[in-house]
Amino acid sequence: MKWQGGRRSTNVRMSGGKAAGGGIFGIIIGLVLWLVFGVNPMTAFQTGQSMTGGSSTTQPANDDSRDTQFVESVLANTEDVWTQIFSELGMTYKQPTLVLFNGRTNSACGSATSASGPFYCPGDQQVYLDTSFFAEMRNNLGIAGDQQGSAEVENQGKAGDFAQAYVIAHEVGHHVQTLLGISQKVTEARRQVNETQANQLSVRQELQADCFAGVWANRNQQRVDYLEPGDLEEALNAASQIGDDRLTRGTVSPDNFTHGTSQQRVNWFTRGLQSGDINSCDTFSGSI
Ligand SMILES: [Zn+2]
Repeated sequence: MKWQGGRRSTNVRMSGGKAAGGGIFGIIIGLVLWLVFGVNPMTAFQTGQSMTGGSSTTQPANDDSRDTQFVESVLANTEDVWTQIFSELGMTYKQPTLVLFNGRTNSACGSATSASGPFYCPGDQQVYLDTSFFAEMRNNLGIAGDQQGSAEVENQGKAGDFAQAYVIAHEVGHHVQTLLGISQKVTEARRQVNETQANQLSVRQELQADCFAGVWANRNQQRVDYLEPGDLEEALNAASQIGDDRLTRGTVSPDNFTHGTSQQRVNWFTRGLQSGDINSCDTFSGSI
């Protein structure tokens, strides 16, 4: 995919892998506020956290590696697309922060490690990607990166790029669900049903994020219109192997849900891709 040369987002942050989220200074400030002003330290902490974007150890991404440039380009692209779609709906899109972390980081959803895989945390409205993510996609899943070379390698490179972009678009899809109030409704509904039904709701939520990623791709046809059905399946299969279902092995999510079958994921992504309309992404009524 032709991601080079486009606008690069300023919302990508690097996290150094130390304890994040206020840290010792946040705790000291909280205690001082509590002792001097009688302010509940947890309230002060959470206020500070939301003002600083959730983590005191994050800083603007300043390395110029291919992977950072790629993430900044794809995130900028999602910002442009979703700002336009929200504007069409008479709403304002709030851009998420994307945290690139190395090894381990803390989120409002708990601690995350490289084993957690990419995820979105509704609590701090941040997307988390660990820096080994792209290498893992290239190496373990047998997907070529964007190396130049034979036509075959270039072709694989396109699919590889798209698989990586898709993972980011899927996580941004969860952010859109949060902005639209859908995530909160799902969380509430999951509390009132048994585990099987709760998992079923999570699958529907995941498939909607896939559909939203398809809507993003639709609005971005120039960059993905070279895609053929086989590329799409390859990208989605790769993405599902590295997607945030890997959270079940980490500490962030206690859930034991799947993202749906590959076929379901392709179907819903395709629906969004063909319609370009979030109204076509109602995964919560009817069969999936
Ligand atoms: Zn997901």
